[in-house]
Amino acid sequence: MPLLVMKFGGTSVADLDRIKNVAHKVQREVDRGYDVIVIVSAMAGKTNELVGWVEKTSPMFDAREYDAVVSSGENVTAGLLALTLQEIGVPARSWQGWQVPIQTTSQHSAARFVDIPRANIDQKFAEGFRVAVVAGFQGLGPDGRITTLGRGGSDTTAVAFAAAFDAERCDIYTDVDGVYTTDPRISRKARKLNKIAFEEMLELASLGAKVLQTRSVELAMRFNVKLRVLSSFEDNDETSGTLVCAEDEIMESKIVNGVAYSRDEAKITLVTVEDRPGISAAIFAPLADAGVNVDMIVQNISERDYEDHPGAVTDMTFSVPINQVERAKRAMEEAKAADKIAYDELIVDTDVAKVSVVGIGMRSHSGVAARAFKALADENINIKVIATSEIKISVLIDRKYMELAVQALHDAFELERA
Ligand code: ADP
Ligand code: ASP
Ligand code: MG
Repeated sequence: MPLLVMKFGGTSVADLDRIKNVAHKVQREVDRGYDVIVIVSAMAGKTNELVGWVEKTSPMFDAREYDAVVSSGENVTAGLLALTLQEIGVPARSWQGWQVPIQTTSQHSAARFVDIPRANIDQKFAEGFRVAVVAGFQGLGPDGRITTLGRGGSDTTAVAFAAAFDAERCDIYTDVDGVYTTDPRISRKARKLNKIAFEEMLELASLGAKVLQTRSVELAMRFNVKLRVLSSFEDNDETSGTLVCAEDEIMESKIVNGVAYSRDEAKITLVTVEDRPGISAAIFAPLADAGVNVDMIVQNISERDYEDHPGAVTDMTFSVPINQVERAKRAMEEAKAADKIAYDELIVDTDVAKVSVVGIGMRSHSGVAARAFKALADENINIKVIATSEIKISVLIDRKYMELAVQALHDAFELERA
């Protein structure tokens, strides 16, 4: 039998009526002749609630128990969907990660897939089950404990199953009807894309567009999974949604195809750092050791006067996820106390956001940065840090201008027009 993977996110399974709606969508594919692996998220808001409970109970929590608790939301929806399918006559059963067993690495709350053995699920299909409802976001670590894959991880579960089971397609059902030029909840001018290249989707996801988890796009690209994003609240056909595909399957593409944003940023500046060979290594090695994900970096001439500082000095600014500020601060203070680095002051700015434009056309077109900066300048938005790669330009700005910046960039690159 041909096989499909269908994934339903939190809002799509938020209550029993919505689970019924999902069951009917699955039934339709079964009636068309497919065996189906359904990956479900926890009900909307559930994972946040579980994370909150863990943090309240134990601020320095044991990561293994964190995973035991936060993975549980998916178990509930998997069981409920299997029951709902049985009620409408579709032979289905639920699977928790350990029952498959979905083997992952040991990094709790950020585990990666190691293997998804097919035997157990294949056997149930052979026995006449038509649907395997698998709890997303979770797996089994080498120590026999439950792991989770990082927030938004059910997308990655879906793609990994599609690869492991040679699915005809991996359909990601969510609360929007596809991938847009920017978050449709931020911009009314956002336009739905019929297709988007893996590279662009990967960049948009990693820069904050949470419609797909970054790892899921990486896996789809590596295993050439046919990946589609579509709405769970609409009637769909073969042409619905957005197909994430190889670049050469897209006939027409603009220079810039998307604008992404991330609210959860913070900027840290070390004021008056000695400017000598090895200083960057001395700063960023302890941050890496502390597990801090440094994103953007700028080194500039110190604005301080140099009187107390014979020799060259500089300021070092970098951005980190807002929830890693304390860890980053501690790493810097410890390095300073151990005489590995010296600085006068450590300034934290938690009122920043990152806005990025993405497009594979940037590889072959110049002037994109100038156009982006002019659009921001016209709105009087000050750029604090800039980072570029082959296919993206990111700026760090005051958070209060984030939405304005998204609009301005969306307009500047005429993204509302196909
Ligand atoms: P799910 O619970 O189904 O996994 P998510 O909330 O994780 O859904 O992802 C869907 C959301 O992603 C949308 O509601 C939308 O606000 C957001 N989003 C951000 N950027 C984009 C984009 N470029 N296109 C579509 N949706 C986007
Ligand atoms: N429920 C998990 C989360 O909220 C996984 C997911 O929905 O993809 O992050
Ligand atoms: Mg999601």
